[in-house]
Amino acid sequence: MMDKPTPTELAGLQVIVTGGAKGIGLGIARSLAQAGCELALWDVDADALQVAAAQLRAEGAAISTHRVSVTSEEDVQMATAKLLERKGRIDVLVNNAGIGGDKLVTKMELDFWQRVIATNLTSQFICCKAVLPAMIAQKFGRIINLSSRAWLGNRGQASYSASKGGVVSLTRSLALEFARSGITANAIAPGIVETPLFGTLAPQTQEDLQRTVPMQRIGQAEDVANAVRFFASPASSYVTGQVLYVCGGRSLSSASV
Ligand code: NAD
Repeated sequence: MMDKPTPTELAGLQVIVTGGAKGIGLGIARSLAQAGCELALWDVDADALQVAAAQLRAEGAAISTHRVSVTSEEDVQMATAKLLERKGRIDVLVNNAGIGGDKLVTKMELDFWQRVIATNLTSQFICCKAVLPAMIAQKFGRIINLSSRAWLGNRGQASYSASKGGVVSLTRSLALEFARSGITANAIAPGIVETPLFGTLAPQTQEDLQRTVPMQRIGQAEDVANAVRFFASPASSYVTGQVLYVCGGRSLSSASV
């Protein structure tokens, strides 16, 4: 019988969280720090990184921060090299950084399409490519990619949905390519998660959105973090190439956001 996962099973893991300065990424970082992981937060927003780092260190977290744009192979390769120099290994990569993208196809400029694909999908390829040599050498690695329930398709979100569908395909391919190397790759598909952006919506809009969730509540960063902890833990060692929905049942009943 498999042991029940405990936070101590994650203690000491070297983890990168991209987009870790805010929102879901910050929630994931906090949860993994509480489980005893050592964290490298990569984010393009240097000010938010400073604030997040101060908060997490005050809570006792072991973290380093790097101003990195995940769309820049140069930034990512440099941050990876620095981390390996200091820590000697990378156990878990959480590809969380991403941007939204709401536009009807007929109104969508090519540049807009390309920005969303680059930030949400190409970035994950760049980060995986940078850390994989270390994971292969260690014969151990956990790649956890943030997709979205929206990968199923959403009116007005063609670029965002396509980028998140690409994340699913990338994850499945990584899983197959590195299955013999002790590396798993899995994706998480959240539904609507309460982030600062959600708080800026009109109260009626918030209520309307909540009603579209079968469980009748909006997800929290902690809900997503729990799924990340599962994919980082030994409890998921025989699970690879999968998509875990964290959406209160919304993937079952709602065709569109
Ligand atoms: P957010 O905007 O609150 O945070 C995203 C973080 O990524 C920010 O700190 C931002 O600075 C960083 N970032 C953006 N571009 C970057 C780049 N090029 N390089 C490095 N960092 C960059 O977003 P969030 O709501 O916390 O979303 C996090 C992830 O979860 C995204 O991939 C998003 O698509 C996914 N997701 C979110 C929801 C939701 O309801 N919030 C639902 C499904 C999926």
